[in-house]
Amino acid sequence: MIVAEPKPLQEVALSVSGYKNVLILGCGTCVTVCLTGGDKEAHILAEELSASTYFDGKPPSFIVKTIERQCEKDMVEAYLDIPQDIDAILSTACGAGVQTVSEVFKDIPVLPALNTTFLGSFDEPGVWREKCQGCGNCILALTAGICPIARCAKRLLNGPCGGSSKGKCEINPDIDCAWHLIIERLERLGRTDHLSRIIPARDWSTDRDGGPRKLVRPDRVSSISQ
Ligand code: SF4
Ligand code: SF4
Repeated sequence: MIVAEPKPLQEVALSVSGYKNVLILGCGTCVTVCLTGGDKEAHILAEELSASTYFDGKPPSFIVKTIERQCEKDMVEAYLDIPQDIDAILSTACGAGVQTVSEVFKDIPVLPALNTTFLGSFDEPGVWREKCQGCGNCILALTAGICPIARCAKRLLNGPCGGSSKGKCEINPDIDCAWHLIIERLERLGRTDHLSRIIPARDWSTDRDGGPRKLVRPDRVSSISQ
């Protein structure tokens, strides 16, 4: 899922100050699962922002609605019952959701209430960890399903740097050494033969280094437009 965290309230308040009627728009998918921007959190945010302490004058009036996915244009377009007097939308979705809502409601400012952090998963109560950097050329088949690009501090592709201690990364002893985990799991799976397969220098143009990316699947274009 996409993991996000709330922006500081003061920053959010500053972004909505000057508007009279603000719709706080929750999102029912990733940010609901990571307990940051679902319907419950959107209502809590409305209550918190209604405290006049965050504003020089009168705070805006807030109403709350939640749709299943803000990053899906069709779903946002179906969500057309925005009251006439709304002059700003405060989105509790990820950055993709904020931008999709902006593309649909072109004449209303859409403001982010969250900081989008990474692609990851829930590991233990209150803790989410990054698991994927969307590199565009997945190598998990060779690395026991553990991503060295997202989880090794040095993005090493062919084994550990040698600096780990007791299974922890030398860069940050709070995180597990990705290569320690990979080797442990390959041993468990009986697939240590993967360690002798050299992963060649990568073409990082499929990653973010190649600039903004776009995915076109000709086999899907006609079925989606039908
Ligand atoms: S190899 Fe690339 S696509 Fe696969 S998990 Fe890692 S960053 Fe994500
Ligand atoms: S200690 Fe492990 S995770 Fe940290 S940089 Fe070295 S190989 Fe990567």
